Amino acid sequence: MEHIVIIGNGISGITTARHVRKLSDNKITVISAETDHFFSRTALMYIYMGHMKYEHTKPYEDWFWKENRIELKRGFVESVDTANKSLQFADGSSLNYDKLVLATGSKPNKFGWPGQDLQGVQGLYSKQDLDLLEVNAPNKEVCKRAVIVGGGLIGIELAEMLSTRGIPVTFLVREDSFWNGVLPNVESAMINRHIKNHHIDLRLASNLKEILSDEHGRARAVVIEETGEELACDLVGLTAGVSPNIDFLKDSGIELGRGIKVNRLLETSAKNVYAIGDCAEQREAIGNRRPIEAVWYTGRMMGEALAQTLCGNPTEYKPGHWFNSAKFFDIEYQTYGWVFSERNKKDYEQHFHWAHQDDTKCITVAYHKDSRLFLGINTFGIRMRHEVFDRWLTEARDVDYVMANLKQANFDPEFFAHFENSINQAFANQLQTA
Ligand SMILES: Cc1cc2nc3c(=O)[nH]c(=O)nc-3n(C[C@H](O)[C@H](O)[C@H](O)COP(=O)(O)OP(=O)(O)OC[C@H]3O[C@@H](n4cnc5c(N)ncnc54)[C@H](O)[C@@H]3O)c2cc1C
Repeated sequence: MEHIVIIGNGISGITTARHVRKLSDNKITVISAETDHFFSRTALMYIYMGHMKYEHTKPYEDWFWKENRIELKRGFVESVDTANKSLQFADGSSLNYDKLVLATGSKPNKFGWPGQDLQGVQGLYSKQDLDLLEVNAPNKEVCKRAVIVGGGLIGIELAEMLSTRGIPVTFLVREDSFWNGVLPNVESAMINRHIKNHHIDLRLASNLKEILSDEHGRARAVVIEETGEELACDLVGLTAGVSPNIDFLKDSGIELGRGIKVNRLLETSAKNVYAIGDCAEQREAIGNRRPIEAVWYTGRMMGEALAQTLCGNPTEYKPGHWFNSAKFFDIEYQTYGWVFSERNKKDYEQHFHWAHQDDTKCITVAYHKDSRLFLGINTFGIRMRHEVFDRWLTEARDVDYVMANLKQANFDPEFFAHFENSINQAFANQLQTA
């Protein structure tokens, strides 16, 4: 029997632990510095917004771990000694492993802004961040204005969270349109309008210069780089992306890049040490995927593949077709396959775009301009079925087939019936004018 030690009780570490238990009798220990039990990080926002209690974000009952002989240890691993196969904790204790899984996730980026460590300045990643938000921004009397720095998915979530408590929000976005490194311009422009419709003071092409302190070491204002404008605020939310949480490994001898370097078997450069989830960096990118993918589904898929390898059935990480989902206030976004932004668009990539006049629903379909191969779809405000697009991408369907059968992929055919004609008409018009 081997001792498999997993650092990190997020989706990737926990998926590994659960599957190792299904496949073997090995001893399993899961370590976390954050919480006693696994919780859904993607649900953090709903706790602040009052839709859920913390208890409801735990997918498993607290008895599950003992019942499944998964030992949980609370503690921060300060260093890893791969020669002696041991971990050293911040409290001075140590633990030996036979196989080690690094599943340590991400941390919010800080770019060395003056004032970034003042009180009232925080990221939104951990349970501790959520608790801190309750201190920094419990209501609009304590927090008269918040400034959010960084226009990604976590930034827009934080804007929504704060606005549900009536806290005025200024949102500084470096790009000249929200998330336009990922979204095609028309979609990005729709989200700009949607953010403003929710009374968020959206400042595009705006960078943080510095955060100013009051006499008690608390943030009192931010200064905008481009205009020099000083904005008074009580909370500064730093949401300018995340990066792998790997500082504690710097003396371990394990090869690091931006993340922990792994091969397709998720092996690191050290024997019997593996890395998965947000902290892992593929030595060679898989298809169009980025070498580091800080998304929930990636952690889960890596966890499943690694459990096989750990139990004697070497299994490469093969993620299949890209998909993801997110929410921009009340607009649900889904993406399947590849639809690139103008900045990253391939020279063979053509887009068909349809938008509803209410400005909250749209579809962009990407296809190969010569072969008409279907490459991917983005949908906003219309929920689609993952398994249908996954199948069509595998079957290498052309765009004409996809458009003719779009109804099959819709989650709510009755709802979709209202738009079907309009979408098909627009597609036919594009064909005529192409
Ligand atoms: C607010 C928010 C919303 C999100 N929404 C979405 C979404 O809608 N869709 C999506 O796909 N993704 C979303 N994500 C991203 C997604 O949550 C992450 O990709 C995923 O949780 C990463 O899982 P993980 O297991 O790799 O790491 P994590 O969940 O980060 O878990 C790592 C754990 O390891 C612990 N740890 C790290 N270092 C040590 C150490 N040295 N010692 C002990 N413990 C350590 C950490 O404290 C942490 O508990 C969101 C993230 C956030 C913050």
